Amino acid sequence: MADRLLTPSKITAWLDCTHYLTLQHRVEAGTIPPPSSVFGSMAKLLVDKGIQHEAACLAEYRVRGLDVYEVPPKRDGESFASWVERVGNPMDAGHDVIYQMPFLHDGVRGVADFLVRVEKPGLGFSRYEPVDAKLARSDAKPGHVLQLCFYADAIEAVTGLPPEHLHLWLGSGETESLVAVEFQPYWRRLRSQLTSLLDEKAGGSVTVPEPCAHCDFCEFQDACSDVWRESDSLHYVAGIRGEDRLALEGAGVGTMDLLARRRDPVDGVRGERLDRLVEQAGLQVSARSDGEGAPHYEVIEPSEDPTWGRGFELLPEPDAGDVFLDFEGDPFWRADVGLFFLFGLIARDASGTWDYEAFWSHDRDEEASATEDLIGFLIDRRERFPSMHVYHYNHTERSALERLTADHGVGEAALERLVETGLFVDLMPVVRNSVQIGVESYGLKHLERVTGYQRGTRSTRVPGQSSSTSSTWSTATTIDSTASPPTTRTTSGRR
Ligand code: SF4
Repeated sequence: MADRLLTPSKITAWLDCTHYLTLQHRVEAGTIPPPSSVFGSMAKLLVDKGIQHEAACLAEYRVRGLDVYEVPPKRDGESFASWVERVGNPMDAGHDVIYQMPFLHDGVRGVADFLVRVEKPGLGFSRYEPVDAKLARSDAKPGHVLQLCFYADAIEAVTGLPPEHLHLWLGSGETESLVAVEFQPYWRRLRSQLTSLLDEKAGGSVTVPEPCAHCDFCEFQDACSDVWRESDSLHYVAGIRGEDRLALEGAGVGTMDLLARRRDPVDGVRGERLDRLVEQAGLQVSARSDGEGAPHYEVIEPSEDPTWGRGFELLPEPDAGDVFLDFEGDPFWRADVGLFFLFGLIARDASGTWDYEAFWSHDRDEEASATEDLIGFLIDRRERFPSMHVYHYNHTERSALERLTADHGVGEAALERLVETGLFVDLMPVVRNSVQIGVESYGLKHLERVTGYQRGTRSTRVPGQSSSTSSTWSTATTIDSTASPPTTRTTSGRR
């Protein structure tokens, strides 16, 4: 029975995806095998970072001189219920902080990161309130709040005293406190809906996998991808929206192959949009039969539409000073802040040979220096090549650079002047509005196949991170397969 209990993490996942619970219950019922990997790589990274953040919070309580009680961990082979019974109620002992407190309450089980004792001066008693350490840097997420609501109910069940507040210790170091009674009614309603899903009949049959924000972190990702692949799902048509898919499925066009052959109109999808989706699906179907070769593409004919077919019109004249820029970063370098650890660019040298330049950062100070050095490089080059541009793919390079100059207080005004003069050119809208390509995504890694480009990869450790939390990145050595490979020269911003 204990295996069928809800957990806060299941509840959080259910908020994003109802199918997740269905699969979990099938695993628990033994009707499907458990996923081979408990976490995707991103989820594993986040779990590791979360553990580090939790340890930092625990250390902080100790630094404050509080009486911290660490609950003895669950033993191998011990059931959750037995663990809860063995732990008993350490809140009776009046510790300031209780770490890793297990609760089993009303069909839900969970382990609260921290319970903190809150004095009620004048009332002659104290009560405990739950604190969860979360990597989020701002704002509580719904799943976080629901977990805290569960801990609040469980604390009240054990002590008879309902917590007034729920607390999140965010990755930014800030604590966000919420009034418990404002959220508990929602939690209790949701919880009863979920209980019905635990029922054998309700739990298994009606949900289907739908791509959502949780997929990248979900242990069932491979299983769901297999379902989508086998059913030739429309999910994989590049650029398709949820409402397009619903309208197409409603018209009996439920696969990429059917979409590629669709000639009749579809209610709910405008004619021009349908034409684009049919063309896109057709190119992808052709690419499938072509195997690993470069995918087919079609240049889009300009029309009355001011954007579609006019991507190439966004391109400035080529210039000898042009620069192609790319960044690499680790969003969870630390719980409170990410790090752009590499600004890489290629530009032609005096002989016209493509040259690679890299600005590395190993910590925030070096990130500030690298930002300043990069802007200095661009200013200097712009003076020598007044008609040059900086090309990047997707908006990140420009928007991240603007944020970095503001965060570090370096080169902000200089960058603003460069931006105002139209220095930066985002190539993604150029591509999206000029060619349709037989790829599932218009991300750079997919588009490289069009040029026959072979990516050279190397794994490396993110500066300042342990091997268990290291990330990998790949560095492109050329962006133009028709040009001579560039010489590769790595410079440090300030290493
Ligand atoms: S992979 Fe996505 S659709 Fe499948 S169970 Fe997980 S979250 Fe749901």
